[in-house]
Amino acid sequence: MKRIAILKCSMLSNQNLCPGDAKCLVSFMRKEGEFDRYKNGDSAIVGIMDCGGCEGNGNRAVASLALLKLQLAALK
Ligand code: SF4
Repeated sequence: MKRIAILKCSMLSNQNLCPGDAKCLVSFMRKEGEFDRYKNGDSAIVGIMDCGGCEGNGNRAVASLALLKLQLAALK
C-alpha cells in the first residue's frame, strides 16, 4: 500500500487558500486532481503536516515526517 503524507504550505493554509484539510481528504477519496495518480492500487493518506512557514523552522517538516514514521511504526 502507498502511504501518503501531505505537506501543507503554512502561508496558504493561514489564508484558507489551500488549507490541507477535509478538501484534500475528499479529493483523495474521489481520486481527483493530484490524487488521480492513485486511482489504480491501494493507497491511504496517513498524515497532513505543516511546513513550518517561510521564515519559520526549516526543520519542522523533516521533524514532523520523522515523528509520523515513528507513530506509524508503533501501530504495526
Ligand atoms: S516555506 Fe513558505 S512558501 Fe514554502 S510551503 Fe512553507 S509557507 Fe509555503
